[in-house]
Order: sequence, then structure tokens, then C-alpha cells
Amino acid sequence: MFALMRRAAVVLAVAAPAAADPPAAPPAAHRLGTDVVPVFQAIRLNADARKPDYTGSVRIELDVRKPVSAFSLYARDIEVSSVALTGPAGAVEARHGSADRGRLDIATQSPLHPGPHVLEIEFSNEYDTQATGLYKVVVGGDAYLFTQFEADDARQAFPCWDEPAFKIPYQLTVVVPEGDQAVSNTPPVSDTAKEGQRTVVFARTKPLPSYLLALATGPLEFAPIPGMSVPGRVVTVKGASALAGEAVRTTPPVLAALERYFGRPYPYEKLDLIAVPEFWPGAMENAGAVTFRDTVLLLDARGASAAQRRLLVEVNAHELAHMWFGDLVTMEWWDDLWLNESFASWMGNKAAAEAFPEFGTQVAALEGTQFAMSTDARLSTRAIRQPVSSLDNLLQAADELAYQKGQSVLSMVETWVGPEAFRRGVLDYLAAHEWRNAVAADLWNAVSRAAGKDVAGVMATFLDQPGVPLVSVDAIEGSRVRLSQRRFSNQGVTVPATTWRIPVALKYETGGAVRTRVVLLAGPSDTVTLEGPPAWVHPNAEESGYYRWSVPAATRRAIADGAQRTMTERERVGFVGNASALLDAGALRGDEYLELLLPFARDPEPEVAGAVVGALGKVKRAFVTPELETTFAGYVQRLLRPALDRIGMERRADEAEAVALLRPQLLMWLGRDGRDPAVLAHAAAVAATYMADPAQADPAVVGVALKLRALSGDRALFDEYKRRLEAATVPADRERFLSALGYFRSPELVEEALRFAATGPLRPQEIFEIPEGVATAVAEEGRPYRFMTENYDAIRAKMPPMFVIFLTHLAGGCSEERARSATAFFSEPAHAVPGTDKEMAKVAEAVRDCASLRSREGGVVDAYLRRRSAP
Ligand SMILES: [Zn+2]
Repeated sequence: MFALMRRAAVVLAVAAPAAADPPAAPPAAHRLGTDVVPVFQAIRLNADARKPDYTGSVRIELDVRKPVSAFSLYARDIEVSSVALTGPAGAVEARHGSADRGRLDIATQSPLHPGPHVLEIEFSNEYDTQATGLYKVVVGGDAYLFTQFEADDARQAFPCWDEPAFKIPYQLTVVVPEGDQAVSNTPPVSDTAKEGQRTVVFARTKPLPSYLLALATGPLEFAPIPGMSVPGRVVTVKGASALAGEAVRTTPPVLAALERYFGRPYPYEKLDLIAVPEFWPGAMENAGAVTFRDTVLLLDARGASAAQRRLLVEVNAHELAHMWFGDLVTMEWWDDLWLNESFASWMGNKAAAEAFPEFGTQVAALEGTQFAMSTDARLSTRAIRQPVSSLDNLLQAADELAYQKGQSVLSMVETWVGPEAFRRGVLDYLAAHEWRNAVAADLWNAVSRAAGKDVAGVMATFLDQPGVPLVSVDAIEGSRVRLSQRRFSNQGVTVPATTWRIPVALKYETGGAVRTRVVLLAGPSDTVTLEGPPAWVHPNAEESGYYRWSVPAATRRAIADGAQRTMTERERVGFVGNASALLDAGALRGDEYLELLLPFARDPEPEVAGAVVGALGKVKRAFVTPELETTFAGYVQRLLRPALDRIGMERRADEAEAVALLRPQLLMWLGRDGRDPAVLAHAAAVAATYMADPAQADPAVVGVALKLRALSGDRALFDEYKRRLEAATVPADRERFLSALGYFRSPELVEEALRFAATGPLRPQEIFEIPEGVATAVAEEGRPYRFMTENYDAIRAKMPPMFVIFLTHLAGGCSEERARSATAFFSEPAHAVPGTDKEMAKVAEAVRDCASLRSREGGVVDAYLRRRSAP
């Protein structure tokens, strides 16, 4: 699954809470027994999407391994009308009853005879309407069905052994209205119409866990994807297949890159990419039938920005990497979900970088590493590997920290053992466990064997311990340097002493030559002898390590001064992120930090300037009070205007994608926060061009232009945006106008925009777009939180329970008063779903850190801005 991170609109789909402390002896009740296990399951669904409910039956072939007289499977909120059990000697009398959490218990008079049995269940149910399980969506008057089963919602669609270790072949049959299409994991083997109904029988699947099954029905359209090792299509709702072009063009090279890495073809018989109009995650790796949020998959070929095209490639590569890692080999239980996701992100970025190097995916990935290290600096962080012994929220096992940290740790280990040895280990692991399940240790053991190094020992210190290390390097004398480690923390936070086994990648200059070397720092400190006395030592070559680093101030200045000569793009981007962490830790003063950003903003590589833009969010949040806005505007102009002057406001015909990705970020900050009149005038012109003829405007900057134009917009423009949003046929157009509605500044329009967010014809996933806009454009940082509390019941009714805990993130920012109020709000029984308290604790700690930074550095930052923004 791909969580859409760091995007305001899906703030709800970000990090999950710390898992509950594991009980001393975890009860086995959270797992189904293994005395009676399924070996094959046929499912038949009478799925008319026009109705509110459906009926179905399952026929499950069982292997009874022990003579038990009771066993369980899952069937949550399902009306079971009949249960029939048949053994080798014929029918077996069986009773059934519902238990906690959707368990269906089956009991027999006398113990079953070991051997094959068949369980048949008939049932009925209503379609879900919150985009989980088997759910119904109405678009343009047409009814559709889609599925989203991870982690434990297949059990809500039909009875099944709904745990990843029960990996079996399934065979699905659906009966739909004659005019509807049906898509599932496999191609159909028969498709017959009779009396207004169409019966589609899908081929038996390869062994799959239930969470990877998928179904889509309705008046679907198809766009073929030629040029792959298997047949492929983009699947859309009626009228949208014309938007499939970018997905059709970019999927084959990504799939081919993955096939080359894994040294074996894509493992399933076909590949459908399904665009779903209502969908909580970014995408989901159902085998052979990957589902995507439509705004990610469907792009207008003429109107897609570089950022949208990059996101599509990244998300797609992540999902397709899962076809081998997750689908072909599946985690045994949810405690290895972090690895499933980390590996898919790590591998996906590798494949995306190979297929489309112009998007700079490997540099962009550093943003995720920085996010993980910032989260991991706090006391409220947790070890990413934890026993999962509660069914409350299984996806908690892979929050954003786990995705990003896991991915960074995999990169670090790959650098240490070498890419070829790492790959050999991965291939051995896949070969040993294909079509079956595995645990994380199976992978480490395979990589350890291939590399001849103790990979498991290194991994354990990063997976089983919370926090991020700080590696310091000091010169001793001559060519000797001392490496030392401790747990990194923000100023004012005391953390427990922790030691990691860290592959430290040193980069240094000696005798005029720049060299690199990886050393394993296993204790608190160690001495290393280099080839000669170093001019400087950078402790994180290629920023491949999951650790913060510090060097003496003079060395830091030497590294910064020679940055463009000696440091790679990734190292320069990482330098900016590390400096931001040193500011949090109290090791760098606020004025020094702001001064240090200036040369990096002028870096010729767009990604480096992009990292500086990324750093501004924290500066604004922590330091920019209403009184300081004008002086901050001067600083933003001084910082970013040279970069914009170099790349220009207008797109150039032959420019790099990285330039196209940077331009909208510069325009946004210079227009909104820098109040740059030329930028605002340019944005107004682009917005006018776009409204007159979308094909004439640069798609990369249209979204920003509409927002900047709204800042000074009147009611007529507001109404026009609203009208265009409701009439949009391209998902991205809808998103552009929707998010721009939050940028109108007149108080009356702010209120109207918020009313529209609460009561307008929006999808549940779109509710926070406008409040987030108000927060940034109107400087009402607390607005999304207040909006949520004012509309809590209505919002809660539209959200599946597992996402409710993320509402706490709306209390983020720099206000301790709001955090206190939110802590009280979320501790009321009516607002406290399981896991909310831990999530709220994380948010509150981040707020305290921000407030502490403000009180500590606010004075020097204020003085610096006033001094340096003067013309
Ligand atoms: Zn995933």
C-alpha cells in the first residue's frame, strides 16, 4: 500500500500511532488456529452495484490436521444464512456462532476426522460506503463496486481465513448487471449473459493471502497497456479512459526495470491498474489488479505537471515492486508489515530511478529519510519492529516512520555490503519462499550469507530500538580520527543511552584526493586511521546512513564552502536536512542556520534549492509571527529570488524535469510569503490563461497560479473556481480548484469556503483540502483543527474507523494551547478510538519541540531577519 504522505489533503493517511506495549505473554487469541486450515476457496457474489446489498456463497476446501470439534474463520458484519460441512464420510452436523471481532466459530458434535473437508457458507451483506471492504461508489449517476481489503477487511466482504499466513488459491465468480464490466486478480475464463445478468468466472488465482484479492464492477472502461511481458490495461470509470495515457506510457519501463532486478518475469498472468474515485490510500498492490486513487493514476496528457507525473511513477513502482515482495512472497504476520512496505519503497525508487532518471527519485527519497529521523528524534517514537498482538488497528504496524526508516536502513545496509551481494541475498530469499510466506529474519539471513557479513546484527539495533543515532567525528592527530555515537535528541529532551551497530560511510579529503570508506561503528566510540591527515571528514557519504552527524564548526564550514566541488547532490540536500536537525538540537543557532541556507538556495542543482524551500516550512511555523511577516517576506525574496531568476518564470523547451519540479515551489513561496509583485502578476496571468484555455498554460505551475491568484480574488472568482471544480472531468483539475478555494483571503469568503468543505459535494478524502489552504494562506494555523472539532460528527461518519486516530494531526503546529485543548478533546470517550492517546502524545511532543525552538531561537531569528531583510 502506498500512503500519500506529506500532502495536506491526506494528512489523515499519514503516520500511525505507536503500537501498544506488548503484553508479557501475548495471547494467541488474535490469530486463528492451524488445526483446520483452508487449501482452496471459491467465492460467488451476486453483485449488482445499483442495490444497497448483495448475496453470496463460499466453498472452502479444508485440511483438517487434528481431530478437533471446533474451529474458526472470519465473517465480520455478515449475515450468515447457512453453513454446511462435508467430510470424507459425508455431511457433518455443524453449528455456527459469531464471536468477537467478526470471528465465525464452527462447532461439531464429535471430533472431525483428519483429512479433507469442504465448508460451504451462504450469506448476505450490505455494501460498505466508507471505501473499505467491498464498497459502493456512485459516479455520474452510475454505480460501481470496488474493494480495499488490507489489513483485515476481506472478512467484511465474504467469510474467509483472513490472515496473511493462509495463502491459498481463490476462484471468484461474480454475477453483475448485463451492462456492467467486472475486473479481478485473474482474467475471466468464462463470461456469459442471460436474462439481463452477466456471469463472469475468473481463473483460479495463484496462492494469495485474502488481503490481496480485488474486485471492480460497473460500466468500466479500458485502455490497453502494450509492451509488457503480460497483457495489461488501465481500468477507469465511464468516460475517463482518455486520461490513462501517462500510465500507459510509463508502466512498461518500470515493470521491465523490476523484472531485470529480480531476474524473473512479473509473476502473474495479467496486470490491471484500476483508477478508483473514492480511495483512502494512494494505491494498493492487489496481485494483478492494482488499485489507485484516481487523482494519482489518471492524468491529462496535456495538463499534467512534473510533480504529478513523478508521483504516478513512484507510486506505481512501489506497487509493482510488491508483486514480488509482498505478493509472491508474503509476510507471515503483520509484525513484518514494516518490511513489506519499506522494501517496496526502496525497490520502487530504484526501479523508478532506472526507468525515469529525470525525476531524481533517489534524491527526492532523502525527504522521507529526513522526516523519519525528525520523528525518531522524539521520546514518543517507537521501535519499528514490534509484536502485533492486537487487532485494533493492524496498519499501525507500518506507519510512515516505519516506511521511511525501514527504507533508509535498507539503503544503508546495501551500501555497506555492496549492491550485488545485497541483490543476491534478495533473489535467494525470493527463490526460497516464492508463493509462500516468510519472516524478516529469512531476508537478513539470505543477505548475510550472500555478503559474508552480520547483517542481522546491524538490522537488530535499528529495528528493535527506537531513536536515531548521532555520529560525531573529531580529529585526534595526524591521520587519526575518532568516531563516536549517542542517541540524537532535540534540545531539552533527555533520551535513554543507546548503542547501535552503524555502518558509517566516511568521505574525506587527504593529499588533495577525496576518498570514501565504510567502517562499522559497533561501540560508543572508535578510532580510525585514514591514508593521511584529512582536510575535512564528512561522516555520511552519499547520505546513505540512517543517522544524524556532527563535526567541529570549522569542519562544517569547510564542507559547506566546498560543497559544490566535493559534495554530491544527495550530500548537499542531506547537509541542509542535517543542519535543520542541529538547529532543533541546539547545536546551531537560528541566525547561523538562516545564513547557511543562502548559498544552498543558489546551488545550480534544482534539488538542492528544493531542499532549502522544504526547510522554510519549519522556519515559518516556528518563528514567523504576524508582526514579522513583512521582514520574513524580505528574507524569502533574498533567499529564493536568485534561483527563480536563474531558471526563469516561464518554462523553457529543453529544461530538465528537476527544474519543472522546482519552479512551482519557488513561485509559491515567493508569491505567498515573499509577496513578490512580479511573481504575483505572473501567477495572475497564468491563471487567466488557464481559465481561458487550459491547454495554453504550463501545467507545472497552474495549481500554484490558481492559489496565488485567489489570495487577492473576489467573490466572482470564488464562484468561478467553485463552478469549475464541480464541472471538472479530470481529477487533477478538480483537485486544483478545490485546493485553491482555501486561498481566498476575504473573511466572508474564508467562511464560505469552510462551509463548502463541510457541506459541499466533496468526497470524504477531500474534506481537509480547504481548511489546510486556509491554514497556510490566511495564516490561520489552527483552522484545520477548529474545523474538525466544529464538524466532528459529520467527518467521523464519513471515515473508516482506522483513520479516525489521524484526526489528532490537525492539532499539530506550534501552539501548546491548542495541543492541550486537543489532548482534552481526544480523551473524551466519544472521541477516543483505540490508539488515539498515543497518536495525540506524538503530536503534542512535536508541538512542544516547536514551541521550545521558538522560545530559544526566536530572539536571534527576529534580529537576523530585521537586519538582513533591509534592502
Ligand atoms: Zn505498499
